[in-house]
Amino acid sequence: MSSKKQSKNAHRKHPSRAPHGYGGLRPSKGLGQNFLTDEEVIAQIVEGSGAADDALVIEIGPGAGALTLPLAEKAGHLVAVELDERLIEPLRIKTFGMDNVEIIQGDILDTDLDELIESRKKEYGLSYVRVVGNLPYYITTPIIMKLLETAHGIDSITVMMQKEVGDRIAAEPGTRLSGAITYPVCYHARVSKVADAPRECFYPAPKVDSVVLRLDILEEPAVQTRDADFMIKCVKAGFSQRRKTLLNSLASMEGMDKDRVNRALERADIDKSRRAETLTLDEFAKLADILQEE
Ligand code: SAM
Repeated sequence: MSSKKQSKNAHRKHPSRAPHGYGGLRPSKGLGQNFLTDEEVIAQIVEGSGAADDALVIEIGPGAGALTLPLAEKAGHLVAVELDERLIEPLRIKTFGMDNVEIIQGDILDTDLDELIESRKKEYGLSYVRVVGNLPYYITTPIIMKLLETAHGIDSITVMMQKEVGDRIAAEPGTRLSGAITYPVCYHARVSKVADAPRECFYPAPKVDSVVLRLDILEEPAVQTRDADFMIKCVKAGFSQRRKTLLNSLASMEGMDKDRVNRALERADIDKSRRAETLTLDEFAKLADILQEE
């Protein structure tokens, strides 16, 4: 390693103390509590998130507030949703006097985001919705799926995740790294990288490195399909048994059988020996449309 590189990363030594504001509480592994302590990464996330005075910022899992304060300084209004009750009071104390901050105790997966977005946008006269978070890794995929599928009106999602998950999310459909999450992401959004976050950037340090990605929601989905939910069901079924061919994995869907899938594959001009990860988004969309007709 060059001396220049060493000095650049010198501040990223694993910190020995919990971040300020965590109040000495024991971080919960079960809740994915790895607190961000690296100032450079914090600044990159805040800058890359698009938080501005015309934006409603929704922060997922504010934890000890490492991102909450700098985001709130830029946001028109900030709503932070945190599951861990122990963190709510410290967060309220930390943000005391900031009248554009709302701390909600709850599970992001149970939160009615449509209602939240509609009501706050209207109340505060905001134009954009920016979702931001250093996600609890145990539910990264369900959170991203929820944001993509159920929340309307989101403009961008800037989130920290495990690097390997990030590789799948940023992958081109039909390439080696693609997974079930690649397709809905590509259908709804354009992905760009905001920052790398090696494990030393957190307290306690996780066993994996992380990456921050920004998903900009497309005005129109990337491809046309008659029923996007059905297409995503086909993708999930296709990847549920990665080693199986598409013919076998799709035939195991409810109401499907091999003959029907075989006919659809032929009509879509897709070889029946192919596996899900070799399909482009266009091919999945076409196949799903034909399967519904069959
Ligand atoms: N944002 C803080 C930071 O960067 O230091 C904390 C990030 S930590 C990786 C994830 C946070 O999400 C924790 O504070 C955890 O308690 C919270 N969390 C876990 N599951 C959650 C859920 N279902 N809904 C909302 N927050 C959750």
